[in-house]
Amino acid sequence: MKATTIYAPRDVRLEDQPDPTIRKPTDAIVKVVAAGICGSDLWYYRGDTPIRDPFRIGHEFVGIVEEVGSDVRSLHLGDFVIAPFMYSDNTCPHCRVGIQSACSVGGIWGRPDRDGLLTDSGQGEYVRVPLADGTLVATRETPDAAMVPSLLALSDVMGTGWHAATAAGVQDGDTVVVVGDGAVGLSAVLAASRMGAERVVAMSRHEARQQIAREFGATDVIAERGEAGEAAVLQLTDGVGADAVLECVGTGQAMTSAIAVARPGGTVGFVGIPHGVELPVRTMFSRNVGVAGGIAPARQYLPALRDDVLSCAINPGLVFDLDLPLDQVTEGYAAMDERRAIKTMLRP
Ligand SMILES: [Zn+2]
Repeated sequence: MKATTIYAPRDVRLEDQPDPTIRKPTDAIVKVVAAGICGSDLWYYRGDTPIRDPFRIGHEFVGIVEEVGSDVRSLHLGDFVIAPFMYSDNTCPHCRVGIQSACSVGGIWGRPDRDGLLTDSGQGEYVRVPLADGTLVATRETPDAAMVPSLLALSDVMGTGWHAATAAGVQDGDTVVVVGDGAVGLSAVLAASRMGAERVVAMSRHEARQQIAREFGATDVIAERGEAGEAAVLQLTDGVGADAVLECVGTGQAMTSAIAVARPGGTVGFVGIPHGVELPVRTMFSRNVGVAGGIAPARQYLPALRDDVLSCAINPGLVFDLDLPLDQVTEGYAAMDERRAIKTMLRP
């Protein structure tokens, strides 16, 4: 089969790899229907996160179950399934409280599992899925082709945006500010809106992203950044600040702005992978601003978000503005790197 390996910054290659096979009775083999390129893949592509050894890249995919191991109970051949960006058993103590991203036997795609067996990654034709019963969420029937982008968005960005809003405790009637206008930030706008926020302020200076933010329910858009952006939020909220702030970038500047625009007693939900972020604990103490969140347990939110997509209550697939065949994966990365695309979908 063909699958993608990243060797070095800006060196992504689609290569022949062995077809995966069932290695453990809890495995399933999934034929990939669509895969995403993630903003976090770009950290490697741009050289911001070092690549120690080349690895198979891609952690967002949906597909069809082709084969199941003898212990797999909940999945059947031909099922359409959504994979969260990490695999998990969904039964250990951490999974049972809904933090499947900390599963005691789980792991990430494209790396060896706990027994040293390679787990394939999403940006390829087939994936061996460990702990298939706990990891994969199936739809009742094969969805319309038009639903595929929105179901794929649940693999990562929509679940991550949802986690930011959940961690920040977004409630009916709240004023919510979203820092970051990448696919996760836009998804966070949609999550806050779906949770009943009355005012959702998107911080974005890019026309195409502002437009999607508005379609996702943003009531206000602020184009300024840094201190000017913070001042604009305070002005918009009559000097009060936001009940909830969703930090979807992961830089020190984004976190500083997020804490600055939270009202006293407000909470920052953070889901951007931190790169050089330090928290101003003294400021948080004096203003009673909380910070909660972390790596999203996308698996926790999958069943409910799947139903929301299938009932057309949400359409998170709008974040995919570039749809390419898998053999153009290098262009998919370049387009996102050069900000010609918000998010790329690849079709094997
Ligand atoms: Zn677990």
